[in-house]
Amino acid sequence: MATAKQFQCPFCAFQVTATDENEVMKHVKVHKQDHHPDADVSDSDIHDMIKDVEITRSGR
Ligand SMILES: [Zn+2]
Repeated sequence: MATAKQFQCPFCAFQVTATDENEVMKHVKVHKQDHHPDADVSDSDIHDMIKDVEITRSGR
């Protein structure tokens, strides 16, 4: 079973899922700049909000 990293924005419920945490961070930072530029959220806060999730592959 594969796992992925998932982030859910606490402000607007926007979700990012990627297999690599750096990839998630990249998207989250862009999202934050675009949508919540005044939000007081540091990189380590974002890191803490990233969870491991299981991904099921479609097609059986
Ligand atoms: Zn958001």
